[in-house]
Amino acid sequence: MSEKTKFIFITGGVVSSLGKGLASASLASVLQSRGFKVRMRKLDPYLNVDPGTMSPYQHGEVYVTDDGAETDLDLGHYERFSGVSCHKTDSITTGKIYQRVIDKERHGDYLGATIQVIPHVTNEIKDFILSDITDEDFVLCEIGGTVGDIEGQPYLEAIRQVAYDLGRERAMFIHVTLLPYIPAAGELKTKPTQHSVKKLQEYGIQPDMLLCRSQCEIPQNEKKKIALFCNIREENVIAALDVDNIYQVPIAYSHEGMDKQVCKHFGIECEGEPDLSKWERIVDIIRHPEGEVKIAVVGKYMQLLEAYKSIHEALVHGGIANKYKVKIKWVDSELLEKSEPDIYLSDVSAILVPGGFGQRGTDGKIAAIKYARENDIPFLGICYGMQMAVIETMQHVAGVKNAYTTELRSNCEPVVGLMTEWEKDGDKEKRSKDGDLGGTMRLGAYPCVLAKDSLVRKIYGTDKISERHRHRYEVNLAYEKQLNDAGMVVTGKSPDGRLPEIVEIPANKWFIGVQFHPELKSRPFDPHPLFVSFVKAAIEKQQEAK
Ligand code: GLN
Repeated sequence: MSEKTKFIFITGGVVSSLGKGLASASLASVLQSRGFKVRMRKLDPYLNVDPGTMSPYQHGEVYVTDDGAETDLDLGHYERFSGVSCHKTDSITTGKIYQRVIDKERHGDYLGATIQVIPHVTNEIKDFILSDITDEDFVLCEIGGTVGDIEGQPYLEAIRQVAYDLGRERAMFIHVTLLPYIPAAGELKTKPTQHSVKKLQEYGIQPDMLLCRSQCEIPQNEKKKIALFCNIREENVIAALDVDNIYQVPIAYSHEGMDKQVCKHFGIECEGEPDLSKWERIVDIIRHPEGEVKIAVVGKYMQLLEAYKSIHEALVHGGIANKYKVKIKWVDSELLEKSEPDIYLSDVSAILVPGGFGQRGTDGKIAAIKYARENDIPFLGICYGMQMAVIETMQHVAGVKNAYTTELRSNCEPVVGLMTEWEKDGDKEKRSKDGDLGGTMRLGAYPCVLAKDSLVRKIYGTDKISERHRHRYEVNLAYEKQLNDAGMVVTGKSPDGRLPEIVEIPANKWFIGVQFHPELKSRPFDPHPLFVSFVKAAIEKQQEAK
């Protein structure tokens, strides 16, 4: 680690869901605009080893990195805003920390010591914070949860110690809080923020900056009051007002002087304003699109759309590239099991079926795919969505009524089956039916070769791609011939030709299923080609219908 690397710790107070992840990602991107090299990390105090086994209703989407870590969806914000790919070393949970401590204890590494939260657990957290850093100017570490949570205490102690070890000139504490507005009093209230800062001070942490979420302007005298009571410089009380789209956030923070104050804290000279033109361009397209196109996402976690965070963002990016607003119609796939699909899908110009697990809503997804195929509506199937597209063609075109996935039915025609063996970096990965569920899927980036003359080859403009995976089952290539006869072609395979990664129906204008998750690699400045092309196909479909 270079001596110049500085650490910014972001904590949250008052309530959860303040958008700390977005705040951290936005600060990182503004610092980048000033020419600094950044790295972002998430420390999650919950006891799961990773969010991989949690229900999307608990946690939202599981974000997968290139190196195969299953992580918090905030890492998606980090990658989208900074363009810097995260690694396994950028995501930690209490479960992982304890696993390491216990492994060391069993191995005898502690030489007979009594193992305690301080110093053993906190040291492990500190090692994580300081690991795998080269020449970054700033490492931003976001602590999950809210100050005061029991699980979070070792993390606060660890970051206090890091700041103590490195010196305050290499560490900064930013606390994100909420100023609730009480309509009856017509006032923003600062008391919860004062309490939250007091709590932090109890742990020995004096925040250097407050990022105050608020639905309206914060009067200067209120900022002054917060500064005085919380022992913070007035210019470091930064207002974070609600904005109409997330890509506005870096611009808003910078206007509030956040990046300047961060530089000042570290004694870094920073003249003038950062170049935020790329954000301004995006915000301008979002505010003044040339048109609007409606696309259905047919999934099953409709009560918590965070479960489809990256898909949502990738569709927005595809829209930006086409200068269009993408209006997403979220359709609960279970509804399509009870009524005709056209009730829900006749007003959309494209259909996307995302990833998923388990029986609930599956037959509704198959119904949506059938509707897209028969009506030549642009279709993108992702992971489970691709597997279901294969099953749909097998059932309804090839006439194999019992075609299904062994994930859900053992006595079916196994068109989609359990993957028991595959290659990763030259080694064989093996799995069995009775193995652990956590961390054992096919995870992370794998290469894929695209077939000549395929639509995907044209879209990507290359014949070899790398995309991120997260699945346990795969399409069974034993049925390839039958699929071809039914009009579906496998146009992407692993380099050894053993794993099918992409299917297409060439007779349709735009019908693609992918076993991987392209949404994870889409960035607002570098939109994913599949999403750009998919949105374009939707716009064409809409124009055709007029
Ligand atoms: N349930 C499927 C599998 O494990 C698909 C997973 C997904 O969509 N991410 O293969």
